[in-house]
Amino acid sequence: MTPLIEVQSLVKSYDLLPVLRKLNLNIERGEFVALLGPNGSGKSTLIRLLCGLSRPNAGVIRVGGWELPREAYAVRAQIGLVSHKPLLYENLSARENLLFFSRLYNIPRQKAEARIVELLAQVGLSKRADSLMRTFSRGMLQRLTIARALLHNPDILLFDEPYTGLDQDASAVLDGLLRGLYTEGRTVIMSTHDLPRAAELASRVVILSRGVVGYDAPTTELDALRLAAIYTETTSMTSAR
Ligand code: ADP
Ligand code: MG
Repeated sequence: MTPLIEVQSLVKSYDLLPVLRKLNLNIERGEFVALLGPNGSGKSTLIRLLCGLSRPNAGVIRVGGWELPREAYAVRAQIGLVSHKPLLYENLSARENLLFFSRLYNIPRQKAEARIVELLAQVGLSKRADSLMRTFSRGMLQRLTIARALLHNPDILLFDEPYTGLDQDASAVLDGLLRGLYTEGRTVIMSTHDLPRAAELASRVVILSRGVVGYDAPTTELDALRLAAIYTETTSMTSAR
């Protein structure tokens, strides 16, 4: 069987500066992959490439058999992205924001209304459904962003550093949401600097280093301490020798 996500010899450079250098990565349906690596290692770049928001300089990206960038429309239909930009309207309520985006996805009004009630409950925002987005805390905003990313019922969810800026309570709520998505059978890819969470929540960790995958293993035999040691070893500068 072919993997759900196939990345072969992916190259991405900005102004001749290579960020990804012939990166290879296959992801199977139902995996929860934690994408690790220092700042600037290319995590966000890879996430943007996977959903067709950025074009590679070379290499192949296939999602569900569809090829990027040629079939970006079909790829985006399978992907929900939760990045740092909330992409929501301050002066609309949670429900209105989701209705607006459901129109962009051409979801019929009645179906959208029912789906939105369901999604708001899933992310714990039922009570705030009619509050304006600008009154939301960072954690609530992010949960609304997750509801938005789930509107079209995508198989794949991409999260770019979702724990950044969340307090302990909001982080714990996010833990539960991510676990739920994984249990539902969705494929989750999450960039993070939170090694203990990566070891605990994800089924597999991938560490980016020098533009390629420097380490890739299932989390079954990894605890937070072991992962921290592996991370340091994988990302430490060899040029210091
Ligand atoms: P990470 O998410 O792992 O911190 P990024 O993917 O954001 O890393 O960035 C990888 C490298 O690419 C960095 O050196 C960054 O400065 C560079 N970069 C990212 N986006 C752009 C861009 N739009 N233009 C120029 N350089 C960029
Ligand atoms: Mg980033």
